Amino acid sequence: MGISIDIHCGACGWEEGFRLGTGSAMTRLRNALDLVPEDQRIRILEILDHHPDSAEDFELRLMRCPACGRLFERMQVSLLYGRNDGWQSRYHCDGCGAALDNVSDPEEISTLPCPDCGSAALQVADTSFWD
Ligand SMILES: [Zn+2]
Ligand SMILES: [Zn+2]
Repeated sequence: MGISIDIHCGACGWEEGFRLGTGSAMTRLRNALDLVPEDQRIRILEILDHHPDSAEDFELRLMRCPACGRLFERMQVSLLYGRNDGWQSRYHCDGCGAALDNVSDPEEISTLPCPDCGSAALQVADTSFWD
């Protein structure tokens, strides 16, 4: 089960919902590939096909553009395979192309500037579970 959060800006009223974690149907990475962009999906399937014993780690994460402050929900995937090889998904901002940072701690949200108006007035308005 994953959690979903609604983030609200107390200054301008901006609000957006994000799903984080993994759903109960997403027991294997192969069941969750529809949440991965196509170019990364092709690479992941190549690795899984060549290395059926690879160790997989994946979940939806909240990510933030350090350049323009936009927030995104993205599927973070790490694979370990072969003797010492690894692959990790990387994401870039839809708006400006900068590499996204993980927001690993939800507590951090209240310290971030609003993606819309820049005020330090973000709060988690609602938290629920998704399957
Ligand atoms: Zn705002
Ligand atoms: Zn950006």
